[in-house]
Amino acid sequence: MHEVGIMESALALVQRQVTAHRASRADRVVLRIGTLAGVEPESLRFAFDVVSRGTVAEGATLEIESVPAAAYCPTCQQEFAVETGFIFICTGCGDLCGEIRRGRELELSRIEMS
Ligand SMILES: [Zn+2]
Repeated sequence: MHEVGIMESALALVQRQVTAHRASRADRVVLRIGTLAGVEPESLRFAFDVVSRGTVAEGATLEIESVPAAAYCPTCQQEFAVETGFIFICTGCGDLCGEIRRGRELELSRIEMS
C-alpha cells in the first residue's frame, strides 16, 4: 500500500516541524490531496493511524483537503474541471487538452502543534 510510504514521508516532515518549533506534539495535520493524485483518503487515514503510533503525531487529527482537478485550455484561456484520466476535453470549445493545472497535489498543507 503506497499510502503508508506517503504517510511516512509526511510524518517525517511533521516531526521536523515540531522539533523546529520546539513543540512537543502535533494536534492536527492537514494534507492537500488532488483528486488525480492516485491516493485514497480512506487508505491515508488508515496509514496515518498505523504510522503515527509512537510519534509526535500520535492521536492528532488528520484532515484531508481534497483539491478538485482542473485542466487548462489554451484556446479558451481558462481552466475547466476534470474527473479522471489523462486526456481531457475542454467544456468550452471541445478541444482535446492534456495540461493539468490542479489535481495532482500531494502535500502537507498545515500542522497545528502544542
Ligand atoms: Zn477550450
